[in-house]
Amino acid sequence: MDFTETEEQRLIRKSIAELVKRFPQEYWREKDWKEEFPQEYWDAMAEHGWSGLLVPEEYGGAGLTMYEAHIAMYEAARNGAGLPGGDLLMRTYIFGSYAINEFGSNELKEKWLPRIAEGKAIFSIGHTEPIAGVNTFDIETFAEHRAGEYIINGQKMWITLAHRADGILLVARTKHKEEVKRRSEGLTLFMVDTHESKMKTARIPTVAMRPLGENMVYFEDTRVPEENVIGEVDKGWQYLARVFNAERVGTASVATGAGEFVVDLATDYAKNRVVFGKPIGSNQAINFPLAETKIYLEAAKLLLQKAAWLFATGQDPSIVGNMAAYIAAEAAFRAVDQAIQTYGGLGFSIETDIERYYRDLRLFKTAPIPREMVLNLIGRRVLGLPRTF
Ligand SMILES: Cc1cc2nc3c(=O)[nH]c(=O)nc-3n(C[C@H](O)[C@H](O)[C@H](O)COP(=O)(O)OP(=O)(O)OC[C@H]3O[C@@H](n4cnc5c(N)ncnc54)[C@H](O)[C@@H]3O)c2cc1C
Repeated sequence: MDFTETEEQRLIRKSIAELVKRFPQEYWREKDWKEEFPQEYWDAMAEHGWSGLLVPEEYGGAGLTMYEAHIAMYEAARNGAGLPGGDLLMRTYIFGSYAINEFGSNELKEKWLPRIAEGKAIFSIGHTEPIAGVNTFDIETFAEHRAGEYIINGQKMWITLAHRADGILLVARTKHKEEVKRRSEGLTLFMVDTHESKMKTARIPTVAMRPLGENMVYFEDTRVPEENVIGEVDKGWQYLARVFNAERVGTASVATGAGEFVVDLATDYAKNRVVFGKPIGSNQAINFPLAETKIYLEAAKLLLQKAAWLFATGQDPSIVGNMAAYIAAEAAFRAVDQAIQTYGGLGFSIETDIERYYRDLRLFKTAPIPREMVLNLIGRRVLGLPRTF
């Protein structure tokens, strides 16, 4: 097996790393504190062409694959942009470029893809509802087809960036649960243009990923043209499942990269903080757990690379992608927990940034997919165990 990356892939790693390092931790700390969108970072990414990495060349993008996309997301987080910086790329790549280019009409591609390449469109996804979290089939938001458009009513919860996004990849029922044989039927995906379709948002005060921001979104007779359907009407689940597969690669990239960044911070501290006349890193109780986190992160990186490669080569990434998201979340949280232990009291100071990473990295054990749901999937589909729900 050859793990050597191409010249172009190595260049992407280097270029993103250099660009991201222009935004120090003070920048992200302030954005977190003020819950402020990282516009300067996003503008810099777009100016260097990274917003359009997955956009085909004919629409002004770089026309690259999910493998290169995972490199970009990983390197952003690996070099200090953390969850907000990595996740912002992920939302544009997956809920924007990937969903539209793979499943959208030519009109949607012409409308959105050039704007993504210019960095002028950012995206959200809306599946969670107050009544339906991990069980997407229970959603109640309904889109009624009427004279060339859909009239949408319902509410979504936890929608990252909805207050700021240009497009929301929305999941709605187009058939009621009672009308379909299987509950996965009767769902449809829409690309809702937030400038054309009216909806209300309300911020949810949150401790994780604060620069991006979480929202309730209310649809009240919101009109969406029928051309905005992504994929096929009533068959949305099969398209959403593929979007979720791509999202698993995204979250694994960001978690692994951010975990590695935090281990570096803790390792530097362990080399330099002197207690009882010697660096704390010379104590096995500090040294070994840091070494252990490095091993877990490296294992996560390997699963991540395999998932990204399966995706990029058109093979089914669902199992490996979910495994990668799971182990990346566990490894990254283990890393930040050990970083706090290494920093001692300073781990709780806002100025060391560790507490911010702690709040952010805990998220991936719960969202976008809670660890229990990955275990349900692996138990059933890999081990052939009975369903647990
Ligand atoms: C910061 C943040 C950002 C988010 N961004 C978005 C976004 O942009 N778009 C969006 O649509 N959603 C978003 N979410 C929502 C997120 O995807 C959900 O919170 C997550 O899927 C869990 O859903 P829930 O909170 O409703 O939990 P619930 O579905 O209520 O589940 C609660 C707990 O019970 C467990 N559980 C439930 N059923 C079972 C079972 N059968 N077996 C074992 N365990 C079970 C779950 O794993 C979970 O741990 C975000 C959430 C957060 C916190």
